Amino acid sequence: MAKNRKTQLGFGAMRLPQTDKNNPTTINMDEFTQMIDYYMNQGFNYFDTSYAYHNEKSENAIKEALVKRYPRESYQIADKIPTWLLQKEEDNQRLVNIMLKRLGIEYFDVLLIHNINKSFIKIAEKAKTFQYLTKAKEKGIAKKIGFSYHDKADLLEEILEKYHENIDIVQLQLNYLDWEDQRVQSKKCHEICVKYGIDITVMEPVKGGTLVNIPEKIKKQFNSNNKNLAGEALKSAASQDNVITVLSGMSNLQQMKENCEALKNFTTLNEKDTLFLNHMANEIRKSVAIPCSYCNYCVKECPQNIPIPEYFNLYNTEKMYHLNANLALYGTTASSHAPASNCIECGNCNKYCTQQLNIPELLKKVVEMFE
Ligand code: SF4
Ligand code: SF4
Repeated sequence: MAKNRKTQLGFGAMRLPQTDKNNPTTINMDEFTQMIDYYMNQGFNYFDTSYAYHNEKSENAIKEALVKRYPRESYQIADKIPTWLLQKEEDNQRLVNIMLKRLGIEYFDVLLIHNINKSFIKIAEKAKTFQYLTKAKEKGIAKKIGFSYHDKADLLEEILEKYHENIDIVQLQLNYLDWEDQRVQSKKCHEICVKYGIDITVMEPVKGGTLVNIPEKIKKQFNSNNKNLAGEALKSAASQDNVITVLSGMSNLQQMKENCEALKNFTTLNEKDTLFLNHMANEIRKSVAIPCSYCNYCVKECPQNIPIPEYFNLYNTEKMYHLNANLALYGTTASSHAPASNCIECGNCNKYCTQQLNIPELLKKVVEMFE
């Protein structure tokens, strides 16, 4: 790893504290405000949100807790245009107007197209969203422009070959577990961004908590080497070239404190640290049955109301720990939502999956285990 500049911790606003854990719109504003104050005091200032996070309430929460309380020049906001809502060219400006209004700001520091993959690139191109971004930058609506990306390296290469001259930032899923993963291809995607000289904002550095919720025997190896699970994952992502920001979707003040600590006076990981993480990645890979990042993007698309990530989480937990409580929890969730066997294999969810999973096939494994 060769690092050429300082990386900052970004505050991802997709997993904010909630007063009701089953209702994403119930953002706990008191705790969120405390987290913001702590974060800003530590010298960080990058907030990442989207039109969609917290069922469209994340932007407004940022307005109340940050925009109304801090001078505009003291923080940066990155926001994302919801690609799936683009039907025609005029929708770009219409959605951006809504986003600016919800945030109570006049410009974005970073404006991104959300979740570019093989399905959504067609929508963005049809709505001329890449061209819109360039115009938005010229007009001062955005200081930097780009897209968040969830697909394989060959498509990223095609997109950047076409648009790299106008793209400042790609938001990329990058962590030590996905570095060599054949589905996510973090390493290859990273190399392509470096080749085109594009800055990278890292998302999912702890893979939605997967790199923290690991089996005890692997945790012990981190502890005996005096390494913090989340801290090492953040530092590993921050050590890569062209990475300017590592986002973390923090849900409480404790996580915030640990993450600030990890990146505040961070030094690039050395070869020994990297070898250790590669070894841990192999161990973790053996224990994670379904590599879901728990982003929830698929949930709203399911006509059967199947709580897909919750079932994948239960499945992974059961594979690791074999607890009776998992079966009981499955029963409760299935009765309040729908059992996995209600899947009609329509495939809607697959189009949104940020981890390229074949969801209906994996749900069959959930059915086998719990039903
Ligand atoms: S394939 Fe199954 S899980 Fe996916 S959207 Fe359709 S019914 Fe829901
Ligand atoms: S199945 Fe895919 S889209 Fe759904 S939560 Fe997991 S990673 Fe996200």
